Amino acid sequence: MDKLKVYHSLPYPLKVLGASLHGYNLNHWRYGPETERLVEEALERDTWSAEQWKNWQEERLAFILHLAATRVPYYRDHWQKRRAAGDTASWEVLSNWPILKKYILRENPKAFLVEDNAAQGFYIEHTSGTSGTPLTLYQSRSTLHHWYAIYEARIRRWNHVSRNDRWAIIGGQMVTPFNQTKPPFWVWNQAFRQLYLSSYHISDVNTESYISALQTYQVRYILSYPSSLTALAESVIRKNIKVPPLQVAISNAEPLFDYQRAAISEAFHCPVNNTYGMSELVCGASECEHGSLHLWPEAGIIEVMDDEKDEKISQYVIGRIIATGLLNSEMPLIRYETGDRGSLKEGTCTCGRHLPVINQIDGRMDDVILTRDGRKIGRLDPIFKADMPIQEAQIIQEDLETVRIKYVPGSGYDHDQLLSQRLHERLGNMNFIFERVESIPRGSNGKFKAVISKVRN
Ligand SMILES: [Zn+2]
Repeated sequence: MDKLKVYHSLPYPLKVLGASLHGYNLNHWRYGPETERLVEEALERDTWSAEQWKNWQEERLAFILHLAATRVPYYRDHWQKRRAAGDTASWEVLSNWPILKKYILRENPKAFLVEDNAAQGFYIEHTSGTSGTPLTLYQSRSTLHHWYAIYEARIRRWNHVSRNDRWAIIGGQMVTPFNQTKPPFWVWNQAFRQLYLSSYHISDVNTESYISALQTYQVRYILSYPSSLTALAESVIRKNIKVPPLQVAISNAEPLFDYQRAAISEAFHCPVNNTYGMSELVCGASECEHGSLHLWPEAGIIEVMDDEKDEKISQYVIGRIIATGLLNSEMPLIRYETGDRGSLKEGTCTCGRHLPVINQIDGRMDDVILTRDGRKIGRLDPIFKADMPIQEAQIIQEDLETVRIKYVPGSGYDHDQLLSQRLHERLGNMNFIFERVESIPRGSNGKFKAVISKVRN
């Protein structure tokens, strides 16, 4: 029996215990006695001048590039090959480095680990990634402590909430089995003081239960995929349900569109703030009270590149976001193609912070899958975990009964049955058609869509 089945068979109090134990373990990786100091320091850096940031990033970049070129197998081999071919380009200059594609990282993640790293323990992150490319990532406690301190400072504290407040999240974990028709469609995680709400049970029938859970658990703010929270918000508005006041709704993991912001704000009577980040920890950004999405310069250096050529383009022009991680010194990723699109904007925000501003994360714009019983299901990429050799995948809803999965298999792929099981757990009884393809076509503007619906919803 797999872990999920065991969890689903537990009575609710034991689910709470299971989720909380998982949370305490994550807390250990993410936070330590130095966290509050790191948060204060991150907030102080908000007021650094552009010059201070430039100097800080240059120094840190020199360290990371040296580390990668000399002690990371993948990059050391790369430079040795170039040297053998007579290439004398310096590895001290970022623009001399190749663009790193996601599939290369996916194929051999350990080749990106710094050698002889004093055998420190790693948190192993299995991610579904964007565009259905699953990854395995290695992160030390120290790296995670720094990342989550910045997260605490620039996402929570900017919005006058903290990790000690009670909060809710709508995410991709299967906290409740698909076939369950009665609440709870959530689990309380005591370690995080977090109400984890299922993203697989949002429908007009269940909206009142969701809202009363927010009330019962007295949550102060909510973090959610905008697609899921918009589905809930639209239902709240349609049904004219009274909701408890929230301090803020924080949008993550997908682009936030104006219509979504308006619906969420109307339903929950609070501001909606956008964030941008990724499990690879090479890039992070959060929205200030003046509506600018400020980059976190400690996380990485961002270059925006042309769609066709590996060349930087000027500010305000949208292109591919390429990031060089500065935070993670166990698994350095240099000029990593994030799969997202956006543009950089120079100058100072009216909020007074000198953190650079990224314009318009023009990334995925996924549809939701509509089930026969009226549920709207957003992100499905948790089904493509790192145990699955898939390069890219796309989920297409043909009609209320049929879902087509297009995928580019990696070596050793033989997982249709496992994929079918995971889809069944999230979407119930539907016909799943698997289609092997050479590549997944991009939509207009080169946008990748992980989920396409041909059903009106
Ligand atoms: Zn600002």
